[in-house]
Amino acid sequence: MSPAYPVLHLRSGREFSPLNGHPWVFSGAFRELPEDAPAGIVADVVSSRGDWIARGHLNARNSLAFRVLSRDQDEEIGGDFYQRRIRHALALRRLLPADVSAYRLVNAEGDGLPGLIVDRFDRWLVAQFHTAGVERQRELILDALHAVVSPDGIEGILVRDDIRVREREGLAAGGASIARGAVPPLLTIAEGAVRYLVDPWHGQKTGFFLDQRDKRAAIAAVSGDAHTLLNCFSYTGGFALAALARNPALRTVNVDASAPALDLARRNFALNGHDPDAPDAHEFVTGDVTRFLQAAHQDGRAFDIVVSDPPAFAKNLGMKERALRGYETLNTHAARVVAPGGLLLTCSCSGAVTRDEFEDVVHAGLTRVHREAQLVADFGPSLDHPTLPGFVEDRYLKALLLRVW
Ligand code: SAH
Repeated sequence: MSPAYPVLHLRSGREFSPLNGHPWVFSGAFRELPEDAPAGIVADVVSSRGDWIARGHLNARNSLAFRVLSRDQDEEIGGDFYQRRIRHALALRRLLPADVSAYRLVNAEGDGLPGLIVDRFDRWLVAQFHTAGVERQRELILDALHAVVSPDGIEGILVRDDIRVREREGLAAGGASIARGAVPPLLTIAEGAVRYLVDPWHGQKTGFFLDQRDKRAAIAAVSGDAHTLLNCFSYTGGFALAALARNPALRTVNVDASAPALDLARRNFALNGHDPDAPDAHEFVTGDVTRFLQAAHQDGRAFDIVVSDPPAFAKNLGMKERALRGYETLNTHAARVVAPGGLLLTCSCSGAVTRDEFEDVVHAGLTRVHREAQLVADFGPSLDHPTLPGFVEDRYLKALLLRVW
C-alpha cells in the first residue's frame, strides 16, 4: 500500500480531462487548493464525488497546478517509481539505430515524468528540472537515473538550471552543475555518419537540438542533387553537416546570431572533413537571418535547399498573434531565395502555434511573393520525443518540407 497523500477534490464536471489521460489539471478545476502546501508535493486527485483519479505533483502557485504521475492508486512516488519510468523510457530509445549516440532519454509528460528532461550525449547525461514537483524529488530522481544508466556506461550527469520556465514554478534559474560523476567541457556525439561537438555546459538548451534529428535525416536524403544549401538559424551546423554527409560537394551558407554557435559549427565542419575555410565552399555569417535573407534576395542569390529553424517566437498564448505574423514574414523572405523547384524546410517550435496555423501563415508568406508550393513532408513527434495522444498542448515542434516554384 502506498502512503496516504493529500487529497484534492475536483469540481463537479471537471473530471473529464484527467479521466481521459490528459496529464495536466489547472487550478480552476479544483474545489479548493491548500494554500500552505509546499510547492511540488505529491497529492491525489479525486472526483467531486470522491472517486480516485490520479496521483501527481501539486504546485498551487502555478495555474497549471497539477501534473499526473500515476493512474495506479497503489503506486508510491519514490525511487522505485522513477527507476521504472526511466527504464520504460530507455526501452523505447533502444529502438533507435545503433549509430545514434545522442537522444532524449526522458521527454517529460511523454514519458510519464512531467517536468523532467534528460538528454543523453554519448556517455553523459544532461538533465533539466522544469517543475517544483521534480525539483522537490531531485536527489531521488538523480539516484534513480544513475542506477538505471550506470550499467550502460554513463560517466556523468550534468544539471542545467538556467531555464526561464523554472521561475514560473517559483524555482531559481541558476547555471550548470555536476550532479554525478564528471562531465567534460565538450562531448562528441554521432548521428549516423556525422559527428557533432556538443557543449553541454554553455550550449543552448541542453547543448544540442536532438529534436531535429529526423528532419536532419530528411534533408540529407533529398540533398543528393543539390548544389547549394542555406542553413538559417544554423546553430552548430546541424542541417548542413547532415546534408554534406550525403553530398560532400554541396556548398553551404550558415547564418546564426550567435558567434559561439558558429565557432562550434566551424569546428564541426572540420571534424567531419569539410574545410570551413575552403574558398567558395562554405560561409558562416554571424547576424540576423531576416537581414541576411533581404540582402541575399537583393543580390539575386538563390539556393536549392533552404532550412529555416528559428527559436520559439511565442512561448505563450499572449504572444501568438505576433508570432504568426513573424512566421509569415520570415517565410516570405525565405521563399524568395529558394531556387525554382528547390526545397524549403520550415520549422516552428512555438507551443502556442498549432500545426495548421503554422501551415496557414507559411502559405500566406509564399503567396505574398507569388511562389507556389507542394507540401512534400510533414513532421511531428519522433521516437525519442514521444508525446501523449490527446495532449495537444505538447505539439511544440512543427516542420513542413515544401517544394517551391
Ligand atoms: N537548426 C539548429 C537549431 C536552431 S536553434 C540545429 O538543428 O541544431 C535556433 C538558433 O537561432 C540559435 O542558434 C540562435 O542563436 C539563433 N537565432 C535566434 N535569433 C536569431 C536571429 N534573429 N537571426 C539569426 N539567428 C538567430
